Amino acid sequence: MQENFSLKPFNTFSVEAKAKYFTEVTCVEELKEVLHFANSNTPKLPILFLGGGSNILFTQDFDGLAIKLNLQGISEESINENEVLVTAKAGENWHNFVIHCLKKNYGGLENLSLIPGNVGTSPMQNIGAYGTEIKDVFVSCKVLDLENSELKTFNLEECRFGYRDSIFKQEGKGKYVILEVTFKLTTKNHHIKTEYGAIQSELENLGINDNVTIQDVSKAVINIRQSKLPDPKETGNAGSFFKNPTIPLAQFEILKEKFNNIPGYPNGEVVKVPAGWLIEQSGWKGKQIGNVASHKLQALVLINATGNATGKEIFDFSTAVINSIKEKYGIELEREVNII
Ligand SMILES: Cc1cc2nc3c(=O)[nH]c(=O)nc-3n(C[C@H](O)[C@H](O)[C@H](O)COP(=O)(O)OP(=O)(O)OC[C@H]3O[C@@H](n4cnc5c(N)ncnc54)[C@H](O)[C@@H]3O)c2cc1C
Repeated sequence: MQENFSLKPFNTFSVEAKAKYFTEVTCVEELKEVLHFANSNTPKLPILFLGGGSNILFTQDFDGLAIKLNLQGISEESINENEVLVTAKAGENWHNFVIHCLKKNYGGLENLSLIPGNVGTSPMQNIGAYGTEIKDVFVSCKVLDLENSELKTFNLEECRFGYRDSIFKQEGKGKYVILEVTFKLTTKNHHIKTEYGAIQSELENLGINDNVTIQDVSKAVINIRQSKLPDPKETGNAGSFFKNPTIPLAQFEILKEKFNNIPGYPNGEVVKVPAGWLIEQSGWKGKQIGNVASHKLQALVLINATGNATGKEIFDFSTAVINSIKEKYGIELEREVNII
């Protein structure tokens, strides 16, 4: 247990924030012990769980106990000759887990290659990229109920996954800590998804035209991500800062009259509009204010441009973006990143 501990190395924005207490746990028993410590303090200490710190923005110090989850281990159970259940503990690095599965030729996670963070966080916002979300292969997750310290399992339906959303960001927020996640993956006859984004053209660049494998898809996704997203090791960021907004079809049609090139993906009576387009069209792409900027290749990604930004500065920048989009398009952007 460390006191007055700097969380700068534990968030990919690389902003300074101190935790009153900090500790790392490697098993459920240790976790229960430190939770007991927090609960027996008067008053009870607020708790913050940390995975890879790649979806979090500290705007102030954390006056409680920050717990870095380092539970490790991967296990598997065969279902039939085509499918396998693979379970990974919360502290496993997501990308390493994807690579582990690809080495065993287990399919289903390849489009989610190179997403930062840990396995235990993946259900929080139903991580997604290149036409796949974890809900597509998710079976269940084991959690610890923070109220009664009991173990509980959430199945697919109970997680209520949505776009960058789950029960753990809604009514389950702050109530559970995810300990491990189980996925159902294919062992053969993999469902190859190349139609999304630039996967197809990247495969062509790589000289791969037929018999595309899950390993090829992963390679293409890695190349695309490396070419357009800033590496948090070099430039602090948390990936997409905002969600793509969903607006009523009627509102979209009115906007289309004024901004005839506005892109939209209709789904029944609503339309999803790419937040990156709105931000770019409002002049924010590559724009820097003080230590913060919108990334020059990907407007949706806010960056700690100088390495000296405070969380408050990044938050204020995001508020300025939200206000300007609201004024121009009447659309209110929602932050994807968890604000502390
Ligand atoms: C360069 C870059 C690219 C990205 N691209 C994508 C992308 O393509 N798709 C996508 O979906 N996301 C993307 N992200 C966002 C991020 O990688 C994911 O949201 C990831 O799942 C966050 O994991 P983490 O372990 O780093 O979470 P953290 O930042 O450590 O935690 C996020 C939140 O979850 C809570 N939490 C963490 N672990 C647990 C747990 N075990 N139980 C309960 N609560 C917990 C934390 O308290 C916090 O509120 C990107 C981020 C970066 C930096």
